[in-house]
Amino acid sequence: MHAIEFDADLIARMSQNGPRYTSYPTADRFTDAFRAPDYASAATRLKPGGRALSLYVHIPFCQSLCYYCACNKIITTNREKAVIYLGYLKREIDMQAALFAGKGRVEQLHFGGGTPTYLSDEQMGDLLDYMRARFDFAPDTTGEYSIEIDPRTVDPERIRSLRRQGFNRLSLGVQDFDDDVQRAVNRIQPEAMTVDAITAAREAGFRSISIDLIYGLPLQNTRTMTSTLDKVVAAAPDRISVYNYAHMPQMFKSQKLIRDEDLPDAPTKLAMLGLCIERLTAAGYVYIGMDHFARPDDELARAQRDGTLHRNFQGYSTHADTDMVSCGVSAISAVDGTYAQNEKSLEAYYARIDKGELPVARGLAMNEDDFLRRDVIQQLMCDFALDTRALGERRGIDFGEYFAPELPKLETMAQDGLLDLDAQGIRVTPKGRLLIRNICMVFDKYFGKPRAIPLTRMQYSRTI
Ligand code: SF4
Repeated sequence: MHAIEFDADLIARMSQNGPRYTSYPTADRFTDAFRAPDYASAATRLKPGGRALSLYVHIPFCQSLCYYCACNKIITTNREKAVIYLGYLKREIDMQAALFAGKGRVEQLHFGGGTPTYLSDEQMGDLLDYMRARFDFAPDTTGEYSIEIDPRTVDPERIRSLRRQGFNRLSLGVQDFDDDVQRAVNRIQPEAMTVDAITAAREAGFRSISIDLIYGLPLQNTRTMTSTLDKVVAAAPDRISVYNYAHMPQMFKSQKLIRDEDLPDAPTKLAMLGLCIERLTAAGYVYIGMDHFARPDDELARAQRDGTLHRNFQGYSTHADTDMVSCGVSAISAVDGTYAQNEKSLEAYYARIDKGELPVARGLAMNEDDFLRRDVIQQLMCDFALDTRALGERRGIDFGEYFAPELPKLETMAQDGLLDLDAQGIRVTPKGRLLIRNICMVFDKYFGKPRAIPLTRMQYSRTI
């Protein structure tokens, strides 16, 4: 089990902007030289009955705007838009299903957004039936089928229905339980609404229930955070994510609706992070890494203990080596060493599908060096350790020679107490674990280099 140590001085000194490494290379390295035919040939290379598949479905609509939001979403109360979207989404699913026919079995499905539960119960049931008729899904006992829920859009009956439709994991956006904070971010969600959703999910037999929190929101302070954490611990979800609010109004227009003077200052933010760690670990949660906590008996914590934890676009995962097939506007697929991102606007997404094309807008085919560095970054994020000798043998390299330019930076980090470094490998120390993004950045060959996509549209958040 991984202990963490909160060292406020070290964090304040080391915090900088950096990627979250849901992929390596990161999405800002994708280019439009990679097109739909490149993605199709990656799919064709897969062996029949080979690696398992993960499906991701993006539902971009939301009923109202949360001011802090940095997701790719469309705020509308016009339900007709979802009807049109579902028509196009099904056409994309047809194209994807044809590409992956006879390949691996689906072991993971994730619905994200936006707000997946913007779809009505009937629309969701119909969409899942449509997908089941086109892909071979593993049974409920082994498959991981998850959905992001906005508690403001569901009642207990809807949650029972989602379970019947095949979902077995659920994550709820909460962010903060304090009324004033909720008003300041335009997300009014009474505590009872969240607790009712959790109770209903538990009774319906969802296997893992997760809550998302954010620290750094307007009007938050250590008092409000203490109270929110008490309520979260009482609700006893299986997993808790604690995200750092990245205030970047120059990139995300809605964040301009947040008043600068309401934002907590840097020392208060750090104190709130410290509180989260202290309170959640005292309540028995295990730090998985990168903002995630889980109960020791949750399968994420078990996978980390067994060394089988992985990371993909949805965060940490227990399923290794899947090819990820993603459908919907802006969704990112990862198939056989390639990444492919769909068109980001509805207009462009619809236009491509109308032409009978897969709506891939950009992407990247990984080279040998990318594979190696992805391996290093994945291991550090999941295991907080890297056996450099084993890696060298597996990859046919001498770690010390290959990563000679990186070693001085690692040595400095070792002097700062973030990691231990010797001939056998790298071990991230308890106080280095909160700064794991900084450590991974050392191995990111692209970090700091000019990008294809301008910085104003693709900026990293603070590492802490
Ligand atoms: S936070 Fe979630 S519900 Fe709120 S606007 Fe963003 S995607 Fe929609």
